[in-house]
Amino acid sequence: MPLVIHLPSLELEAGEFQGQLSLEELDMDTRDELILASSPLHYDLRMEFSDSALQLTGQASQRFRCECCRCLKTFDRTFSVRFRHRSLPLQGEDALEVNNEHADLTPVLREDILLSLPSHPVCEDNCPGIKGDWNESPERSDDTAGSSGGTSVWSELDRWKPE
Ligand SMILES: [Zn+2]
Repeated sequence: MPLVIHLPSLELEAGEFQGQLSLEELDMDTRDELILASSPLHYDLRMEFSDSALQLTGQASQRFRCECCRCLKTFDRTFSVRFRHRSLPLQGEDALEVNNEHADLTPVLREDILLSLPSHPVCEDNCPGIKGDWNESPERSDDTAGSSGGTSVWSELDRWKPE
């Protein structure tokens, strides 16, 4: 269900909202082929009125399928945003859109989670990327630096020398 809240009832009393927004409801476009949403967005929020704005506290999280910009491996990662009295004004330029006493918070959550995404997803902080020749598969290009590396390679070479 879209996260549509009835404003007058929040003016009387703070409200708790838990649930999820499906990919269809979010209509999310990450504008990035390296990151695609792979789960609904989960939210756990508390909302209250203060200073004629809606105050949002809680968190939202969503899982994404990412492609590492260094090694091109795909991986899943959950990104989340925390709100602490995030103020959503009801008047002025950035005002929440209100229809018939109801406001849809779906666009707010969608934009905030999009802002939390990295522009260059990396599978691990120390991802070495693709080593060596681009024509070589990542599995094969990985072995030369191993502990048994140097010496054995040279002794192999010695053995191969024609006598
Ligand atoms: Zn990587």
